[in-house]
Amino acid sequence: MVSKPHGGRLVRKLSSEKTKERILDEKDEYPKVQIREGIAVDLENIAHGVYSPLEGFLREEEFQSVLDTMRLPNDLPWSIPIVLDVSEKDLNFSVDDTILLFYKDIPIAEMHVDDIYKYNKKEFAQKVFKTTDINHPGVAKVMNMGDYLIGGEIYLLNELPNPFEKYTLRPIETRILFKERKFETIVAFQTRNVPHLGHEYLQKSALTFVDGLFINPVLGKKKKGDYKDEVILKAYETLFKHYYPKDSAVLATVRYEMRYAGPREAVHHAIMRKNFGCTHFIVGRDHAGVGNYYGPYEAQEIFKNFPDLGITPMFFKEFFYCKKCKGIVNERICPHPMEDREYFSGTKIRNMIVNGEIPPEYFMRKEVYETIMSFENPFVDG
Ligand code: ADP
Repeated sequence: MVSKPHGGRLVRKLSSEKTKERILDEKDEYPKVQIREGIAVDLENIAHGVYSPLEGFLREEEFQSVLDTMRLPNDLPWSIPIVLDVSEKDLNFSVDDTILLFYKDIPIAEMHVDDIYKYNKKEFAQKVFKTTDINHPGVAKVMNMGDYLIGGEIYLLNELPNPFEKYTLRPIETRILFKERKFETIVAFQTRNVPHLGHEYLQKSALTFVDGLFINPVLGKKKKGDYKDEVILKAYETLFKHYYPKDSAVLATVRYEMRYAGPREAVHHAIMRKNFGCTHFIVGRDHAGVGNYYGPYEAQEIFKNFPDLGITPMFFKEFFYCKKCKGIVNERICPHPMEDREYFSGTKIRNMIVNGEIPPEYFMRKEVYETIMSFENPFVDG
């Protein structure tokens, strides 16, 4: 049985063709707000039910409740505020207006304005990211946001152009796919990286206990030096071709901008995958972390607060290669000292690639390495 959507019902907020036509005909009559890519991606996720039960951006009461309790006012777990910010100079509308949200020159959505409110950025940062240090990329983003938040329901008018349409599945599609495959239990894997052997062991260890594995890389805005989206996809395609069971592993992408909120974001990632129909969710070491802001297993501990989440987290200790065991293991199963261990580090592997070294086979599959090397420049430029 695939998981029930969070809150019980899969949200679909897509305008009918008729409404869309009417609104687009009259588009000059509505106040307009220009949105950035991250907001457009959130809109897409609201509209397709990835963020069920949200039907729009958080109103003040919901926002405060999410900050303070990691729950919506009706007590449903919700850990990351999904908000639309505007600056004072763009506030050319009032409560109860219908506005149009534009990404570049595309009208992406209409929104009914229920609420316009000020918020405290430091409080936002401290509660969500557990720090107000602007070197944290999530905090930096909050500090650059407009001073007002707009809450209210949305309807999608146009899909965002998607270069990876072929690889994208919506919750309504994965739910059908999982049923067709007759999966009773499906574990989801969240990732923003090309796969190393640690990832593979994590996924396969989890798959040992369930019917299906859903690998769901998040695509979207990246930091300088990260792998490009197409490289992550091709690397996974290669890995699937050579090393994954075809009847039980599924690969599909979702667009999403990482918050780097560690523990809170792990809960959010789990809720997203529950909406895709998954019953289990992998949380390894320092999930969605950045720098040293979170403890290595803090993103696992937070799940204690959510016995009612409706998706079961699967926790794993850090995988590493042990020269004595001659295999990929973790501290629960390996008795050998640190000197025998080679830890996976995305940065270390990337530096090897940049310096023309081939990563050892216990770090990365040869085929994956070759796929990365088939790109002229596999990394995001500044
Ligand atoms: P993110 O957690 O930021 O999405 P990754 O794509 O690297 O970054 O990680 C995806 C998942 O794999 C997370 O749950 C993370 O904790 C886990 N993970 C990554 N490397 C390891 C490892 N060596 N051992 C255990 N878990 C790991």
